Amino acid sequence: MKNDQQPQNQQELLQLSERENMKKVRQSLPIYKYREELLTLIRDNRVIVMVGETGSGKTTQVPQYLHEVGYTKIGRIGCTQPRRVAAMSVAARVSEEMGTKLGHEVGYSIRFEDCTSDKTVIKYMTDGMLLRELMMEPDLASYQVMIVDEAHERTLHTDILLSIIKDLSRARDDLKVIISSATIDAQRFSEYFDNCPIIKIPGRRFQVDIYYTKAPESDYIQAAVLTVLQIHVTQPKGDILVFLTGQEEIEAAEEMLTARTRGLGNKIGELLICPIYSSLPSDMQAKIFEPTPAGARKVVLSTNIAETSITIDNIIYVIDTGFAKQTSYNPRTGMESLIVTPISKASADQRAGRAGRVAPGKCFRMYTKWSFLNELDQNTIPEIQRTNLGSVVLMLKSMGINNLVNFDFMDSPPPEMIVKSLEQLYALGAINDEGDLTKLGRRMAEFPLDPFLSKMLVQSEYYKCVDQIITVCAMLSVGNTIFYRPNDKEKKIHADNARKAFFRPGGDHLALLNVYNSWADNGFSQNWCFENFIQIRSMRRARDVREQLILLCERVEIDVKDPSLSIFEDEMNTNICKCICSGFFYNAAKTNLNGTYKTLKNGHSITIHPSSLMFDIKPEWIVYNELVFTSKEYVRNVIEVKGEWLIEIAPHLYKEKDLLGDKRKMPKNTGTSDSRN
Ligand code: ADP
Ligand code: MG
Repeated sequence: MKNDQQPQNQQELLQLSERENMKKVRQSLPIYKYREELLTLIRDNRVIVMVGETGSGKTTQVPQYLHEVGYTKIGRIGCTQPRRVAAMSVAARVSEEMGTKLGHEVGYSIRFEDCTSDKTVIKYMTDGMLLRELMMEPDLASYQVMIVDEAHERTLHTDILLSIIKDLSRARDDLKVIISSATIDAQRFSEYFDNCPIIKIPGRRFQVDIYYTKAPESDYIQAAVLTVLQIHVTQPKGDILVFLTGQEEIEAAEEMLTARTRGLGNKIGELLICPIYSSLPSDMQAKIFEPTPAGARKVVLSTNIAETSITIDNIIYVIDTGFAKQTSYNPRTGMESLIVTPISKASADQRAGRAGRVAPGKCFRMYTKWSFLNELDQNTIPEIQRTNLGSVVLMLKSMGINNLVNFDFMDSPPPEMIVKSLEQLYALGAINDEGDLTKLGRRMAEFPLDPFLSKMLVQSEYYKCVDQIITVCAMLSVGNTIFYRPNDKEKKIHADNARKAFFRPGGDHLALLNVYNSWADNGFSQNWCFENFIQIRSMRRARDVREQLILLCERVEIDVKDPSLSIFEDEMNTNICKCICSGFFYNAAKTNLNGTYKTLKNGHSITIHPSSLMFDIKPEWIVYNELVFTSKEYVRNVIEVKGEWLIEIAPHLYKEKDLLGDKRKMPKNTGTSDSRN
C-alpha cells in the first residue's frame, strides 16, 4: 500500500478517492455506531446473537471489524450463508471494500467452487460447505470466529450447524460464535445457546404502504409484469424489486417485459431489467448492484434471495407475488419435490421492508388482503421438518454422530422422517442393519451430492463407466438449464428439433452425456452451443463441476481412467443405465398403459414430463431423477430400465413375483432379456 506517499498520477488519485468514498459509505451504515459495543460483547462472550434489519451491515461489516482489531492474527473468520449467490456477492463486496483481490484475504467457498487461498482470513461460505469442512476439521481449529449468518432462514444445513457449533463452543473456549439473524427470532436463538446475550442493531426503515389486489390473480407473473409497467409509467423515480419463485418464472417475466417495453416509445424512460437467481453467472449478478443511470429505472427480478440475503440499494417499489419454491418431502410416499408454495406472513413483511430502506416506499402484493390475513402461515416451517434428511444423516454419521434421536435440534425433525432416511440409506447400502456406516457409505459421504447420486457415482466403478457417470452427475447438477428454449414459436420448433437430435436410446441421461461429449469433441466451442440451442454458461459450469468430481473420485480412490474403450456402445449404454438404476431404484415406476405411470414403492400416479425425451416413447419400466409438481406430478430426467435390473440391483426392495408377476418362463437375472416380450 502506498497510502503514506503522494499519489503519482490520475489513476492513483482516483483510486484514493474511491477508497475514501467507500470508507464514508461504510461509516454511514447503521451498524457502524455499534462497532465498539459489538466488539466488547464479542470479547466478553463465547456466543452472541446479533439481530438487525437487512442492509444494516451485519454481513459485510462485522467480519471486517473483527479483522481490524486482530482476530485474524490468531485464526480465520468464517461466515456462513444459506445461498451460494449471497456468499459470492458478499465476498466480492468485502474484498472490494478492503481493497484486496477476491480469493486472497477475502474469499468464498461454495459447492464445486473454492475461491480462497492460504492468505484468506475472511471466508464466506455456504452452510453446506461448512458442514463438509466439519467432516475434515471437527473442531474448526483453523477458525477463530464463526458467524452463522441468516440464521432466521432455518435452512436444514444451518439448523444442523447450530447444534454442532453449540456443542463445539462448549469444548473450545477460544472460539467466538455469532448467530446473526434478520428478524426477531433472537430470543429463541439466545435460549438455545444457554441464554447468550443479544445485540440489536436498529435499522432504518421508512414507511412502506401496502397495496393488495382486489381479487385473487390467476396468473401472478402476468400480474407482476403489468404492475411493473404501471409503476414505470405512472410513479416517480425509484427502482423496482419483483419476487418470483425461480429461474423459469424470472426468464418468462423478463421476456414479457422486454416485449412490452419495446412498444412504449421513447417518451418513457428506459427500463433496465436485471434478473437474479442462484445459477446466474457472477458477472451478470454484479449487474444488479450497478447504479441506475439518470432517467432510467431498474427492475430487479429475483427469487427470495433478495428477501434478506442480499441488499440492493434504492429500491422504492416491491412487487410480491406471494410465492416461493420450497422443498417438500412426503415421508408417507418417500417423495421429495420442489413445490411453489405460498410464503409466510413473516416473509411477506420482510419483502415489503425492502421498499423502505432509503425512502418511503410502496409494496404491491399480488394477492388479496383476505388471503394475507387468513391463508398465510405466521412463519415458514424450518426446512428440517419438511425435507429428506438422507444426505445430512450420512454426513452426521461420517462425523461420528450416530444418535439422532437425542441430537440437540433447535426444532426436531419428525421421527418418521429420520426413520425414512435411515431406511433409504440402508436400501442404498450406505449403512448396515446396526445403523453404522458401511465402506460404501463412507465413500458416498465424501461427495457433496444427494445419496442417490453419490451411490450412482461410487457404483460406476463396478459398471465400468466412471467417466460417463461423472459427466452425467455434472450435467444433472447444473439443473434444467442446458437446453435453450426461445419463446418465439418458430425458433422453439428448431430448438426442440435440436434437442431431439441428441436423443440416445436409453433415456435422458444418455442424451445429456451425448450433449457434453459432442461439445467436448467440438473443442468446447461457443458456436457449437449456439447452433444447437445449448446454453454455454451451463455447459461451462458442468465442465467445472466435472473437474471437481474427478478430484473427489481420486480422493476416494475411484479409478477415473477410462477402462471403457473396449466396451461396445450398446453394452456401455446398458451399463450406464444400470448404474443410474443402482442409485435411483427408489424412483422406479411401471406404465399404466394410459400414458401415466405407477411408482413401484407405493403405487403413486406420475407422468413423464413433456421435456423428457422419453415422453413419446413411454417404456414399460422407468427410473426417474426428480419429481416436479406443476399441473400434474411430473417426473424429469427419465431412463428406461428393465424389471430384472431392479430385482438384481435392489432385491431387498423388489421381488420377482411382485414385479414380473407369474412370468415364470422368464430366465432369472438376465440383464439383457426384454421384459416386454
Ligand atoms: P446485512 O447483512 O445487515 O443485511 P450487508 O452487510 O449485507 O447488510 O449490507 C450492507 C450494505 O452494503 C448494503 O446496504 C449495501 O448498500 C451494501 N452492499 C452489500 N453488498 C453489496 C454489493 N455486492 N455491491 C454493492 N453494495 C453492496
Ligand atoms: Mg446479511
